[in-house]
Amino acid sequence: MTGYGVFVHKGRTRIGYRTGDAVFDLTAAEREELVDGLGTFQNGALNDFLALGPPQWTVVAQQAAQLPDRLCVPLDEVEPVLPFRVADYVDFYSSEHHAANVGRIFRPGQPPILPNWRHLPVGYHGRAGTVVVSGTPIVRPSGQRGPGDVGPSQRLDIEAELGFVVGVPSQLGKPVPTGDLTSHVFGVVLVNDWSARDLQSWEYQPLGPFLGKSFATSVSPWIVPLSELARVSAPEQDPPVAEYLTEADRYTFDVELTVEWNGVPVTRPPFRDLYWTPAQQLAHLTVNGASVRTGDLFASGTISGPRRDQVGSFLELTEGGREPVALSGSGTRAFLADGDSVTIRGRAAGVNGGVVDLGAVEGRVVPLRG
Ligand code: CA
Repeated sequence: MTGYGVFVHKGRTRIGYRTGDAVFDLTAAEREELVDGLGTFQNGALNDFLALGPPQWTVVAQQAAQLPDRLCVPLDEVEPVLPFRVADYVDFYSSEHHAANVGRIFRPGQPPILPNWRHLPVGYHGRAGTVVVSGTPIVRPSGQRGPGDVGPSQRLDIEAELGFVVGVPSQLGKPVPTGDLTSHVFGVVLVNDWSARDLQSWEYQPLGPFLGKSFATSVSPWIVPLSELARVSAPEQDPPVAEYLTEADRYTFDVELTVEWNGVPVTRPPFRDLYWTPAQQLAHLTVNGASVRTGDLFASGTISGPRRDQVGSFLELTEGGREPVALSGSGTRAFLADGDSVTIRGRAAGVNGGVVDLGAVEGRVVPLRG
């Protein structure tokens, strides 16, 4: 693990650089002029540092790796908070296996993949204000489950995803080419896009996800720089994509997630199989001239591989709830029960041939209040 985050220690908010189980206090290091964050480590969030761009990110990474032990805070004394102020949140739908599985479950008897899916990275704008840091309790959402049927969701689910954090903004009216991913995106976080399937399936036509997904999205506390991750080839695309989605150097990242339900590993979703790459997602997000801002988060969409033990949602794991899974110690489940916890861990192939730990995003479901 090499990542940047924000934590509270002895009542004070600090910017942190985590390497392995050591967390270095960049706020103190900057005051001693041991790192050159241009003052951004005094601000209580990573946004201003993220906006500095790749040359300064490299300078700070080199300096942070050499900080003295006296600036190290024990990991068990660190209380991570949301590492950046989330500007806009976009969620894609880039896994062909996930799209096919959901299409089959939500629209039985119809073609599971819709006609536009292989032509553009389907996505929607989510709710930035309800992105929360790992460990935040997830209050069971309530809402319309069908005609005249209002109450707590009975089909509360997860979506295991990888999120990309924008550092350098783009200009309004100027699309970002696929080759410019690393000029804008600083790094990745693990994402759990909690989803209420009963609310979602009743509300989503014709405009897409709304209240079934806006109640909470959890992210891991340490942003791992893209520069730490090895590039690997991405799947072939057929039919050919539009010119603005072509990639001179088409690549993705070799990230494998592990989903634990009440401590029991249930699936291992593979990121590298996704049909649409992060570079294509960013290009598509801006092709209409929309700009991205520092602190924007765009997530991959649920990551599902071809096998049942590689899916990124419980909807798929339990075949729409029809085939509950046995969790040793806590019985069988179709969807999340109050008190259930979910932990998504991530590991990636690193630039130096090793494995990069992406940390974990956790959450526990609590009953609706009042
Ligand atoms: Ca999602």
